[in-house]
Amino acid sequence: MGVGIPGQVGNEAAKAEFLKCRGSGSPLILNPMTDALFSADELPAANPMGQSSPVVLARKWRPKKFAQVVGQSHVVNALSHALDAQRLHHAYLLTGTRGTGKTTLARIIAKALNCEQGIRSEPCGVCSACTQIDGGRFVDYIEIDAASNRGVGEIQQLLEQAQFAPTAGRFKVYVIDEVHMLSKHAFNAMLKTLEEPPADVKFLLATTDPQQIPVTVLSRCLQFNLKNVPPDTLQSHLAWVLEQEGIGADLEALHWIALAASGSVRDGLSLTDQAIAYGAGSVTAEAVQAMLGLVQRELLAKLLHTIADHDPQAAFAALEELLTAGASADAMLADMAKWFHQAATLATLKIDAHNDPTGTVAVLAQKLSPELLQLNYQITVLGRRDLPLAPDERTGLEMTLLRLLAFQPESASSAPSASSSGRAPEARASASLRAQAPRTEARAPRATPPAPAAASAAPVMSAPKSVSLTPAQWPTVSRSLAVSGLAKQFVQQAQLIACEDAGRTVNCRFRVTIPALTETAIIAKAQDALATYFGKPCRIETEVGEAATMTAAAEDADAATKAQEEAERVIHSDPIVQSVLKEFSGATIVPGSIRPVKKGSSS
Ligand SMILES: [Zn+2]
Repeated sequence: MGVGIPGQVGNEAAKAEFLKCRGSGSPLILNPMTDALFSADELPAANPMGQSSPVVLARKWRPKKFAQVVGQSHVVNALSHALDAQRLHHAYLLTGTRGTGKTTLARIIAKALNCEQGIRSEPCGVCSACTQIDGGRFVDYIEIDAASNRGVGEIQQLLEQAQFAPTAGRFKVYVIDEVHMLSKHAFNAMLKTLEEPPADVKFLLATTDPQQIPVTVLSRCLQFNLKNVPPDTLQSHLAWVLEQEGIGADLEALHWIALAASGSVRDGLSLTDQAIAYGAGSVTAEAVQAMLGLVQRELLAKLLHTIADHDPQAAFAALEELLTAGASADAMLADMAKWFHQAATLATLKIDAHNDPTGTVAVLAQKLSPELLQLNYQITVLGRRDLPLAPDERTGLEMTLLRLLAFQPESASSAPSASSSGRAPEARASASLRAQAPRTEARAPRATPPAPAAASAAPVMSAPKSVSLTPAQWPTVSRSLAVSGLAKQFVQQAQLIACEDAGRTVNCRFRVTIPALTETAIIAKAQDALATYFGKPCRIETEVGEAATMTAAAEDADAATKAQEEAERVIHSDPIVQSVLKEFSGATIVPGSIRPVKKGSSS
């Protein structure tokens, strides 16, 4: 390997991933480390003590047989069965993100194929073939890095050599790492050999990006997808390795490292190496915290809590601390957006917040309505976008923070000291954000008693206000809805038959005269608009019937008729018109030529 992988090396935004810890000595709150993460090489260089550590764990504990491979049992089982049954394919493609064990597996497969004890899933590990492959000295084991040998020339040379029989082993094994980096011509050159390779040649292709590999190549390979190793699995593995090494380690520290490694065993071991150096021989929580920049994460969590509590003073104090600690505005905003995303997901999908032991996501989800979480997400994302336009970073950051503080849950102003976990969350904030929301029902009693702290994933919309809408109110309300096109036609032409607040949803029944207006897409838009109006989801049922009355359209038509009649009456009674009609016998007023003067909007 040793190849930089585009899109996977660290950057500032990725480093922000590490700004996510809450409470010193507490485990991580989030599990956001799914993709971007800075690699182990990007971490601050180990202090000079690091050089006294002889251990390079990632190399030392590189699996030498299938049984030692961590977290890839699905691939290992399939490969083992195939090898034991002598069902050999001529080309294998191993995919997976960095550090999940692609080349490690390739090496084990090469040993399994060439072990002097015979082809089997458990190579002996002691014969000359096994030891030479482990040591990278086996003549018939050729490892190529496609990132640096991507041209057609190199591949043609390789393919020519493939025509010769293996020198020492049973098979010539070609491992092409980062195979997606090969040029198009190189792939084409490979195709024929891949289709009909010499019987004693095996290709093991590895890639982080299978999408970039031509289908023609993919279809000639047996593909195995390596998974990102789950943090729990990785943590246990790290604990096991350190136990073998006789090195003390805090479980909490390992938990952080496992999360930071983002599914890569190699990164996990490299980080552990660095942590040993930082902790002068042992893996301590403090050292890992310092190494991964978790202190800033803790401060950022603090800032988010002040936003949830709507406490501007505390928020600016927390911001100051963050800036002092060297956090960048861009990283902070990127991180906050992720946090709001997590809270919004929790609030909406009610997913188990098992990665949230200290409850920050839960607190955000509880204290802020789903609407407000959406808004806050938007504010942070836009604030980040506009940072380059701000006079300076700090100004941009502070303005974004002020904007976040400008929208507050209604409860925050009235009961700022309310217990953070004891209140049933509500969509309170939405009322303050919706201009034309019905205000009369604002004092409706809450239906749900305060939820226990543990039920942090309790439904967020569980206690909305009860709402009502009468057929008589409907025409006026329908005009205020933010709809356009056919949805606008629907709300203006539909007659409200019934509206019932069913608790979680509002069920409305409408009658329209035009069947085409009951199409699903139109109804969905109307439902959205009404959900915004009611502050909770709305379900619309329709019926097609005659003479829809009490609709905006009917009212408008009515008004238009009246205006027309009035205009005609005025014209007919106009003295000048009457004298003209009298003077020119036979003159008539052309029907339909009279138009009322528009006072307001019509149509
Ligand atoms: Zn062997």
